[in-house]
Amino acid sequence: MPDHDTDTLAVAGLHHVTATAGDPQRNLDFYARLLGLHLVKQTVNFDDTGVYHLYLGDAAGSPGTIYTSFPFPDARRGQVGPGQASTLHFGLPDIAARVQALRDQGCTLHPVTRFGRQAWALEDPDGQPLELTEGPGGLAGATLWLDDPTPTAALLTEVFGYVEIGREADGKGERRRLTRPGTGPGREIDLYHQPDSPRARSGAGTVHHIAFRARDRAHQDALAGAMRARGLQPSERKDRSYFESIYTREPGGVLFEIATDAPGFATDEPPEALGRQLQLPPQHAPRRAEIAAKLPPLDLPRPA
Ligand code: ZN
Repeated sequence: MPDHDTDTLAVAGLHHVTATAGDPQRNLDFYARLLGLHLVKQTVNFDDTGVYHLYLGDAAGSPGTIYTSFPFPDARRGQVGPGQASTLHFGLPDIAARVQALRDQGCTLHPVTRFGRQAWALEDPDGQPLELTEGPGGLAGATLWLDDPTPTAALLTEVFGYVEIGREADGKGERRRLTRPGTGPGREIDLYHQPDSPRARSGAGTVHHIAFRARDRAHQDALAGAMRARGLQPSERKDRSYFESIYTREPGGVLFEIATDAPGFATDEPPEALGRQLQLPPQHAPRRAEIAAKLPPLDLPRPA
């Protein structure tokens, strides 16, 4: 069964999430060595070539499995709060062994039950909240922290094709879970609301944006039109080398991206060598030596 519906506005789920991080090696080591994700692309922030843009996911770099980071070595820590994707969800194979390995490395994990399912809550080395469950390996979803979840829920259910499957209170706040019915990764979105929330501040340990999957440009255009009809202001299409993207703030303040599945991560290096070498887009390629010399060297995880 294909990931995408073919004749509706509905998205297939998340395409990727992008976080702000601190030290690049520490960020890579945590997600690759401890969570077991595969580094599928090393490039730079196209708007600031002094900073890496690292992409990790399943071995093929499948849309929906992808976590990306902008690791600033001297980043100031942010604060998670309303108007952000506050927690990232990962589904990892052999979760019990993974949890034990994380504890052996000194990570503190708390068991939590979400909608009848066991999960483990922890923070990455920059303080980014994460929740882990058993899964195929890669991104499973995200929690959006919102002052008012209702307009965001309406956008997700009426345009993006999500379905609410339940609500839970945890003593501090309320969580509703939405999923995109069907197969494929990255299909879970929780909307979390808590009275007297701390104020969010961007920085290391916070999510910059989350991206949803578009089948192609026509689907992306149709989603842009539907968002405009609801008073949102999607950006022009931007070429991100591995996908094409539009961006908008959703009603709760979270930055949403709509990214096409194509062309994918094998567009500039062979599928069996994803992530092994720094890749630069055409506008920056002529300055390769200069750009590479300013980036901190990375000790890469060994290919599986
Ligand atoms: Zn993005």
